[in-house]
Amino acid sequence: MDDILNNKNVLVTGSTSGIGLGIAEKFAAAGANIAINGLGDQPAIDQAAAKVDVAGNGKVIFAAADLTKSIDIDAMFQQIEAELGIIDILVNCAGVQYVAPVEDFPLHEWDKIIAINLSAAFKTIRLALPAMKQKGWGRIINIASVHALVASKYKSAYVAAKHGIAGLTKTVALELAETHITVNAIAPGFVDTPLVEKQLDAAATLHGTTRDQVFQDVVVASQPSGRLVGVEEIAAMALYLCGDHAASLTGAVLPVDGGWTAR
Ligand code: NAD
Repeated sequence: MDDILNNKNVLVTGSTSGIGLGIAEKFAAAGANIAINGLGDQPAIDQAAAKVDVAGNGKVIFAAADLTKSIDIDAMFQQIEAELGIIDILVNCAGVQYVAPVEDFPLHEWDKIIAINLSAAFKTIRLALPAMKQKGWGRIINIASVHALVASKYKSAYVAAKHGIAGLTKTVALELAETHITVNAIAPGFVDTPLVEKQLDAAATLHGTTRDQVFQDVVVASQPSGRLVGVEEIAAMALYLCGDHAASLTGAVLPVDGGWTAR
């Protein structure tokens, strides 16, 4: 599968860190031209772009866009079309989290999570589809979460957005079922990213306990495998979905969760 993405143009939203960066590196190594996107300071963006650049031989561009702003999303598509060409593969990965009981959940945090984790994917799909349809091929991959399938307390906005993206995935897949464009969602459990490590450390400090105890209470309690999912495992699943062997795999919400949603 080494060069299965040769001459393919890929946009990965939220690819300046974590899972999105891992997918961008994997897809670059498979021969694709990559548009990375995300927030962050310039050195962090440059570092992410350099990692993707060395992973493959294709072009790498940074498409700046704050995904809460429709005008930025429109401009990002214009930039990518001018600098790479039409997008063959769209990976919606950008996401944020906020945790609070529903009655205390700040309105602006709800709005932000719905905007980035759900509405942005609707907007990018809308903009990417006409060219994919014209070309007669495409792949849309939405990075959802186990929280697209099950809920956890205090994550009302995140769970609502992720269930929403599962619904969006299925609807668009049905609309495109007779084309050669597939639409799927990947539903990771806890993934080994800097964000999760920071959350484990913060929870340990908050509860006056150790990082290992939090790992037992939070990760092992939810994820029967007892270990974090590797970013590489999510990237490999995303790459699998891009192959012609996956032409009939559409409308699925695919857990990569160490068994979380099996019970
Ligand atoms: P991360 O914080 O490392 O990366 C998030 C990315 O989204 C960053 O590139 C960030 O700059 C970008 N982003 C945030 N707000 C943005 C905005 N307004 N405009 C543009 N970009 C923005 O997080 P991650 O852990 O890699 O998560 C990536 C995706 O995977 C998210 O959708 C998340 O919900 C999902 N997910 C993560 C885990 C996990 O355990 N890490 C588990 C399940 C699902």
